[in-house]
Amino acid sequence: MFPTEIPLSDFPILDQSIHGRRLVYLDNAATTQKPMAVLEASRRYYESINSNIHRGTHQLARAATDAYENARQTVAKHLYAESADEVIFTSGTTAGINLVSNILALSGRITAGDEVLISTLEHHSNIVPWQILCQRTGATLKVIPCEEDGSLDQEAFLRLLKGNVKILALTWVSNAFGTVNPVHEMIRAAKSAGALVLIDAAQSSAHLPIDVQSLGADFLAFSGHKIYAPTGIGVLWGRASLLHDLPPWQGGGEMIKEVTFAHTTYNDPPFKYEAGTPNIEGAIALAAAIDYVNNIGIKAIHAHETTLIRAAEKALSLIPGIRFFGPADRSGSLSFLVEGIHHYDLGTLLDQMGVAVRTGHHCCQPLMARFGITGTTRASFALYNTLQDVEALAECTQKAVGMLR
Ligand code: PMP
Repeated sequence: MFPTEIPLSDFPILDQSIHGRRLVYLDNAATTQKPMAVLEASRRYYESINSNIHRGTHQLARAATDAYENARQTVAKHLYAESADEVIFTSGTTAGINLVSNILALSGRITAGDEVLISTLEHHSNIVPWQILCQRTGATLKVIPCEEDGSLDQEAFLRLLKGNVKILALTWVSNAFGTVNPVHEMIRAAKSAGALVLIDAAQSSAHLPIDVQSLGADFLAFSGHKIYAPTGIGVLWGRASLLHDLPPWQGGGEMIKEVTFAHTTYNDPPFKYEAGTPNIEGAIALAAAIDYVNNIGIKAIHAHETTLIRAAEKALSLIPGIRFFGPADRSGSLSFLVEGIHHYDLGTLLDQMGVAVRTGHHCCQPLMARFGITGTTRASFALYNTLQDVEALAECTQKAVGMLR
């Protein structure tokens, strides 16, 4: 399939000009483009079976319910979950993390004197929900420091685990620097210290195979739109026993067994955590995206993207004054700054040349503060990118730097 065999007709959006130049889309860590298979799955749903799910007796309701529950099975299989009951559909990673932080606070499992451990690499989505939890419960937020190369300080991590850590909430891959955390080892250490573990898989889902059983975490969240599915759909995987024991967060339809004005009994997981009408079409389209990715093979995708990132680093390193962030074996994203040039100016000029990259703090302001910078320019890669895209990135960056200097 690689390097050039992904037909452009699979991703019609890529077949266009921006400011008169071929679009080179390198903002995949923000969101990915959608293949025809996903667009068609959404369209087919609305054209043929659109209906509300679970309670209907009519044919369309049954077909929509089957498609939604089949999508859950696809996700469960993809994650190697023990059961589809461990798969909760959410609106995205942010929603999944907020769900977990809220049910932990409500359950009384985290109280005053407890510690919540996150890392310097986290996206705001894996910082702010825990700050809110700490404000509510009187727990303390602790942060694993980051080394100069953009990896986490593992000795400091082990020291921090000697405190009263109740949960480790950790990103697998940094959206800002592409750092791949050694999650297997870190989860093992955190579990031995008696902590729960939540993995933010927003940036790993499209690049690395995920096996929740071998990972050994308790929760894992990701967003559909970063793995070629639409926005507004995501997944929270949770360990069955925990989902069973923890209380619900949002109340409403779907999440109940029986309601009286005096008392309500709750549905079993995953429905207990899916109050209200879910994003039915989104779940079905997510399953189509997962099938698309698995048809190519996530390991092949990762190898292809690694080739592109290495080629991009090599080509860009010819620019005097360029500084890369994150360790060499990064995944998905390549973040850099050119001395004397503001990342925003560089991004704006690249856009004029048809190259879409992201500039700024990447929703990681504490990480930027750690490095004494306000942001970076980030090129992030997906399965449809090519060496031609890398050449365009390098050539246009050279040119833009020449214009800005
Ligand atoms: N965590 C990480 C590492 C991310 O990259 C992102 C999205 N940039 C999020 C969480 C939040 O994802 P979403 O906005 O889809 O909820």
